[in-house]
Amino acid sequence: MKVIKLRDGKERSLLRRHPWVFEGSIAKGKADFGETVRVESASGEFLCWAAYSPSSSIKLRAWSWDEAERIDAEFFARRIAAALAYRQRLAVDSNGVRLVHGEADGLPGLIVDRYDDILVAQFLAAGTEQWKGVIADALLAATGCTRLFERSDSGVRQLEGLTPVKGWVRGEGNTEVILTESSWKLSLDVAEGHKTGYYLDQRDNRREFASWVRRLGAQEVLNCYSYTGGFSIAALAGGATDVTSVDSSAPALARASRHVELNGFDPAHHRALDADVNGTLRGFLKEGRQFDAIVLDPPKFAPSAAHADRASRAYKDINRLGLRLLKPGGLLCTYSCSGGVGPELFHKIVAGAGMDAGVDAYIVDRVGASADHPQTLCFPEGEYLKGLLVIKRG
Ligand code: SAH
Repeated sequence: MKVIKLRDGKERSLLRRHPWVFEGSIAKGKADFGETVRVESASGEFLCWAAYSPSSSIKLRAWSWDEAERIDAEFFARRIAAALAYRQRLAVDSNGVRLVHGEADGLPGLIVDRYDDILVAQFLAAGTEQWKGVIADALLAATGCTRLFERSDSGVRQLEGLTPVKGWVRGEGNTEVILTESSWKLSLDVAEGHKTGYYLDQRDNRREFASWVRRLGAQEVLNCYSYTGGFSIAALAGGATDVTSVDSSAPALARASRHVELNGFDPAHHRALDADVNGTLRGFLKEGRQFDAIVLDPPKFAPSAAHADRASRAYKDINRLGLRLLKPGGLLCTYSCSGGVGPELFHKIVAGAGMDAGVDAYIVDRVGASADHPQTLCFPEGEYLKGLLVIKRG
């Protein structure tokens, strides 16, 4: 077993159970791609077992802080069983559930979503890449599923020196799934959809949106960055009669339109706009259009804190436009999935947008990702999705 020794004082974050060690913290030692190593402090105390990533600036990702634990097939089976047990207790109202959420489940570099009877996984770090076969078998054994599709086509793999991979790891066949969420049906293709196919992290927020639309009697609803129309279906379910989905992806919008019919809503109540959101908002402002409720759920503007400034301006801009387009008493549901923009900064950005728009609003809720995308106390980087729900003051 290879030993990696840290510089004096650099053991502190591992002692707090934070699972990452950066290049600059290492005093001595090297290992192969994804190899399990023993990590020791400068004075030679055991700190953790970890996976080594030769190409990444995150050189080590901790598997276990227990010196007696072996990193083997049983280890992965135990961690997966624990992750599944947590999800079972959540009683998620959907056949689409995030089963493994990386660091938060003690499996850094592994994402697993279940879509009905298909598992979809992302292997994003050297350690999980190296154990892929073992992890795949453990996942099938624990869930009873027979098929696992890999969507390791995320950009972050490049940081590990890995090329994108997409395809069946176990089983084969049709990649289309019908998801049920609340009482709605949503289709997706695990091979072609964004991320692993769908945005499961917004599940609770879509449901909450439906209930606010009903409570406020919202009729005219604008869903910006709609993807396949999840929030649009929520709006129709809440009783809205004039819903516009805006996205720059034509296939996603085609699916949004199909979802309207799949759920038995009147197609005349929905419009799909294949366009840039920013330009669309400006256009609506010129036309004098006003809405009862607006959703802003953009892609990640700030992948890391280094991009926070530029991202802040982009968030502020769309939020300013959104607030201006609301009728008095209208609801804005605004989200950010940028890890580099924390909840406090996001709140400030939306407040600044309100100032610029000359609008004040009641904050009616502050939200995050659904609980199957857990954050943990030891890993603050796990917090990424945050949302503010505000009602424009009349
Ligand atoms: N709200 C969605 C998820 C949104 S993901 C849901 O609940 O499922 C972000 C979406 O923004 C993607 O579908 C992407 O195609 C779209 N997008 C990215 N940049 C855009 C732009 N400038 N204008 C319009 N849509 C954009």
